[in-house]
Amino acid sequence: MFCYQCEQTARGTGCTVSGVCGKDPRTAALQDLLVHATKGLAMYAHRARALGVKSHEADVFALEALFSTVTNVNFDPARLQRLLMRAAALRDRLRRDYEAAARKAGRAAETLGGPAVWQPAADLDGLVRQGEEVTIAARRAAQGDDITGLQELVTSGLKGMAAYADHAQILGQEDDEVYGFFHQALDHLAGGGQSVGDLLALALKCGEMNLKAMELLDAANTGAYGHPVPTPVRTEPLQGKAIVVSGHDLRDLEDLLKQTEGRGINVYTHGEMLPAHGYPKLKAYKHLVGNYGGAWQEQRKEFEAFPGAILMTTNCVQAPRDSYQARIFTSGLVAWPGVAHIADRDFSPVIEAALAAPGFAGSGPDRTILVGFGHEAVLGVAEKVVAAVKRGEIKHFFLIGGCDGARPGRSYYTDFARAVPNDALILTLACGKYRFNKLDFGEVGGLPRLLDVGQCNDAYSAIQIALALAKAFGTDVNSLPLSLVLSWYEQKAVVILLTLLHLGIRNIRLGPSLPACLAPSVLNVLVDRFSLIPISTPEEDLRAILGQA
Ligand code: SF4
Ligand code: SF4
Repeated sequence: MFCYQCEQTARGTGCTVSGVCGKDPRTAALQDLLVHATKGLAMYAHRARALGVKSHEADVFALEALFSTVTNVNFDPARLQRLLMRAAALRDRLRRDYEAAARKAGRAAETLGGPAVWQPAADLDGLVRQGEEVTIAARRAAQGDDITGLQELVTSGLKGMAAYADHAQILGQEDDEVYGFFHQALDHLAGGGQSVGDLLALALKCGEMNLKAMELLDAANTGAYGHPVPTPVRTEPLQGKAIVVSGHDLRDLEDLLKQTEGRGINVYTHGEMLPAHGYPKLKAYKHLVGNYGGAWQEQRKEFEAFPGAILMTTNCVQAPRDSYQARIFTSGLVAWPGVAHIADRDFSPVIEAALAAPGFAGSGPDRTILVGFGHEAVLGVAEKVVAAVKRGEIKHFFLIGGCDGARPGRSYYTDFARAVPNDALILTLACGKYRFNKLDFGEVGGLPRLLDVGQCNDAYSAIQIALALAKAFGTDVNSLPLSLVLSWYEQKAVVILLTLLHLGIRNIRLGPSLPACLAPSVLNVLVDRFSLIPISTPEEDLRAILGQA
C-alpha cells in the first residue's frame, strides 16, 4: 500500500506497511480502486453532461464514493466492495446513456480507456489485487513526485469537497455546477499528460468550487436548524442513561434526538458535534444536555469510560476497543468491520444499548463552554467589534483552528492560543479547538475573547466573518490585522486551504507539518505565490505576526 493523504502519514512520507490510522493494506487497495472506479464513472458522466444527459444518482454516488475514502471514514472491505460494484454498474449505465446521446446528436462517441474500462473482479481478493495495480506508488514511479503529488492534492481536495457537498445534499441543498466539477476534475485526473501548471490551476479551481459547496452546506444547516446563537454548553455529565454522538452529521443527531425524546436518555455531543448545541432547532431538545470529551483522537479512552451507547456519524472513527465494541454504532458513510451500522436512521439499537448500559451514576459540577458564533452571530455584534477596534481595545484577530490529530507537536496550538495578547480576539473552528477551548480567555471589548465559529464544516462562516471585517474597515482580508494559524489533519482541511488560496489569502501559517504529497518544488511555488508559512514556535510566530521580530 501507499497512502500519504493525511498529516499522520508514517514518517511524514507515506504509510506503506499499514496505515497509522488503522487502515490495512487490503482496505487501502480497495479505497484506491474505488477512486479509480469513480474516475471511470466520471469520464462518462462528464461527456454525457456535455450532451445534456445527467444522472443524479451518479452525481451523489461520486460524492459518497470519494467521501468514503477520506481518512477515518470507511474501514470496512465488505462495504467498499458494494460501493465498487455499484460504481461499475452506474458507469456502464452512463456509458450507454452517453453513446445514445452521441448517436442522437449525430456525433461519434469517444472510445475511452483507463478507468473507464475497468471490469470489477468477481470477489474481494480479486478486487484487492486490482486495487494494488492502481496505487499512488505506481503513478509516482511512472510520472514522478511533482505530478503525482499535485494529482493527489487535487484528489484530496475533491475528497474534502465531497464531504461538504454530501452533508449539504443530505439536507436537500445541491448545485449542478458542483456536481459537474467533480466529474470534470476526475476526468482530467484520469487522463495523462498533465503539467504542474494545469494541475495547480485545477487545485485552485477546486478551492473555488469548494466555496460553493461550503455555502450550500451553510444554507443546508442554517435552513434546517436556524442560525447558531451563542450558547453555553455543559461539559460535565448528568446523572442518568446516556448516548454520545460524534462526527459531523447534524441530521443523524436530529433524528436521534427525536427518537430519544421521553425515553429518559441524556444525549451528549462529542468531537465535531459540539457546535450542534448552538442551532436553535437542535438546542430546543432538552435532553441534548452537554458535551462529553474532546477531539476524535481521544475517543478510544473517552468512549471506554462512557457508561452508555455511542453513535459515530461521518468521520473521524478509530478502531474500537473490545470494551465498547458492542455499544458503538456507525451511521452514514462511516464504517468499521464488526461494528453495527445504522443504515436507515432507525436508531432503536442505539437506544436499546443506552438503556442496557449503566449510565452516569452522578452529576458533575456545573461547568460550561460557549459555542454558537457562526457568521450571523458574529456579524450581529460587528458594530461592537468595530467600535472596540477603533477604541484600541481590540488590536488583532486570530483564527486558530482546523483539524486536530494525535502528534505531540500539536501542543503548539494550545501554547499559541495561551500566548495571544489580551487585546486580541480569537476565532476558532473544527476539532483543533479542543486544544484550548476549556481555558478561560476572559473578554475583550465587551465580547468573549474566544469565539467558537463551529465545525470544520463551518469554515464558510469564518470566511464570511473575515470578508465582513474587511468591508467594515474598508480594506481587503490581507490588509486586516487578522492572522490565520491553521492545523490540518485530513482532506477537508486540504480543500479549505485550497479555498483560502483561491481567495488570495496570504501569510497563512500551517502546521504541524505540510502535506506530504507536495514535492519540494511544488511547495516552493505555494510558498512563493501565496506566502504559505509553515509554523515554527508559538513565540517566534507571534513575534513575527505582531511585528516584534
Ligand atoms: S489516511 Fe493517513 S494514516 Fe491512514 S493510511 Fe493514509 S496517510 Fe496513513
Ligand atoms: S475537524 Fe477534521 S480531524 Fe477533526 S473530526 Fe472533523 S474531519 Fe476529523
